[in-house]
Amino acid sequence: MTMSLPLIKNYIDGEWVESDSTTFGDVTNPAKGEKIATVAYGTAADVDRAVTAAREAFGHWRETPPLSRARYLFRLKDAFEENFEEIAETLTTEHGKAIDEARGEVRRMIENVEHATGVTTLMSGYTLEDIAKNIDCYGHRQPMGVFGCIAPYNFPAMVPWWFLPYAVVTGNTFVLKPSEQVPMTQTRIMEIVDEVGFPEGVINMVHGSRDVVNAMLDHPDIQGISFVGSTPTARHIYRQCGVTGKRVQSLGGAKNIVAVMPDADLDQGMPSLLTSFYGCSGQRCLSGSVLVPVGDIADRLVAQFTAASRTVRLGDGLDEQTFMGPLISAAHRERVLGYIEKGIAEGADLVLDGRDMQVDGYPGGFFVGPTVFDHVTPDMTIAKEEIFGPVVSIVRAADMDAVVDLINTREFANAACIYTASGAAAREFKYRVKPAMVGVNIGIAAPMSFFPFGGAGNSMFGDIKGHGQESFLFYTDMKVVIERWY
Ligand code: NAD
Repeated sequence: MTMSLPLIKNYIDGEWVESDSTTFGDVTNPAKGEKIATVAYGTAADVDRAVTAAREAFGHWRETPPLSRARYLFRLKDAFEENFEEIAETLTTEHGKAIDEARGEVRRMIENVEHATGVTTLMSGYTLEDIAKNIDCYGHRQPMGVFGCIAPYNFPAMVPWWFLPYAVVTGNTFVLKPSEQVPMTQTRIMEIVDEVGFPEGVINMVHGSRDVVNAMLDHPDIQGISFVGSTPTARHIYRQCGVTGKRVQSLGGAKNIVAVMPDADLDQGMPSLLTSFYGCSGQRCLSGSVLVPVGDIADRLVAQFTAASRTVRLGDGLDEQTFMGPLISAAHRERVLGYIEKGIAEGADLVLDGRDMQVDGYPGGFFVGPTVFDHVTPDMTIAKEEIFGPVVSIVRAADMDAVVDLINTREFANAACIYTASGAAAREFKYRVKPAMVGVNIGIAAPMSFFPFGGAGNSMFGDIKGHGQESFLFYTDMKVVIERWY
C-alpha cells in the first residue's frame, strides 16, 4: 500500500470507518495509468457491522411515513444537482469515460431519486369490500428489512441508484458494495447522503471484493440482493441467494446486436451507431457489439461506418473534446486485445485496427482505438463472447429471418436494436427478438428510471427488473388482510 494515497473508507451507521482488513487494492486513473487511491477489501466483519446498523435503523425508518421518507430524497436531489459537476469529474477520473457520458450517467442517477419520490402512489396496495358477506379484504405493501446491492465498475454513479432510492423510500435500509475498481464516486455520493442527514444506519456502504459479496450473500439479516455485473458472477449471486432464501434480481452480461435494414437512413443513423459501439469505450451492457447489415446495404454500411469510426476522438475523458476514453484497467485492455487477436486468428477481416492507437501525453493510459472486423461468422468467438471494448464484429445477414435467428441463438439477450424506415420491419423485429430491451433507430436502448431495466436469457436472473414501477414490488412484501367485525 502506498501511504501517500487517500484510503477509501466504509460508511457505516453514519460514520466513516476504516476496515480492519489487511488486503488492499489500487484505484487507478485509467487515462494516465496512475494510482490515485487505495481501497481496503473489506471483510465479513465489516459486512456484519453494516448489516447490524441497517437492521437497527430499520425499526424507526419503517415507521417514518412514506412522504417523510420521500422528503429526504427531495433534499438529496437538490444536493446532487449542486454537486453535479464534481460527481461527474470524480467518476471520469477513476473510470475514464468521457465527461459528457459521466454527466449523462449522473443525470440518470438523479432521475431514479426523482422517480422514487412517487412512493405514496407507487407503494400503495388495493382493497375490495364484501369478498364474502360482511368481510373485506385489503393488501398493503410493507418493507422487509435490510437490502443489499453489489455493483459493477462500468457505471460507478448510476447503477447503485437503480436500486437504493426505491429500497429506502419504501422503508427498508441498505448496504451497498460498489465495484472495488471505482470506489471513489460512491464515496463522494455518500458524503452528500451524509450531509443531507439521513438517519444513521439507513444507508451504509462497505468497499471490497468477493469476500464482501459472499458475506452479504450469506448474511441472515439481508432480505434481498440487487446485483449488476458479468454473467458468471450474476449466476453465482442468483444461486447463492436461492440457497440462503433471499429475494434477488441479478443482471448479467451482454452481447448486443444492432441490425441495419436495407432501407435505413445511414446519415441519420450514424451518430447514434457510433455512440452505441464506442460510447463508454464499449463498456456498457447496452453497447452495440455485433453490427448486422441486412441485404444489399452491407458494403455501403461497412464503408460509411468504418470511415466514421476513424473520426472517433480518443483521449482523457476530462478533455471536453474526447469522444472515447480509455478502458478501465491494464488487465481489461489485455483482455480486449486478446479478443482482437482471436478475431484475426479465426479468419475475420480486420478493416480498422485500434490496437496501437496512442494518445499524445498519455503514454500510460489503457487506450484501445475503434476496431472493426468485417465478414465475421456467427460461430466466431468475437461474435459470441462479451468483449466489453470498442471492437465491432460485422456479421452480414441476408434477411430478417437471419437477423432474428442470430439474435435468438446468442447466450445473452440484453438488448437488440434495428435501424429501418419501415414500421412493418420494426414491428416484426420487436415482436420476434428475445432480448428484453429493444431500440428502434436507437443504438442504446436504455429504459429511463420509470421503466424497468433488465434483459432476458443469461443477461438477467430473477424476474423483477431494475427500477421502474416494479421496484416497489421487489422491495416490499404484500400483506393481505381479510377482515370481519362483529
Ligand atoms: P463483475 O461481475 O466482475 O463484478 C461485479 C461485482 O461483483 C463487483 O462488485 C465485484 O466485486 C463482484 N464480483 C466479481 N467477481 C466476483 C466473484 N467471483 N464472487 C463474488 N463477487 C464477485 O462485473 P464488472 O466487470 O464489474 O462489470 C462489467 C459487467 O457488468 C459486464 O459483463 C456488463 O455487461 C455487466 N453489466 C450489466 C448490466 C445490466 O444491466 N445487465 C449493467 C452494467 C454492467
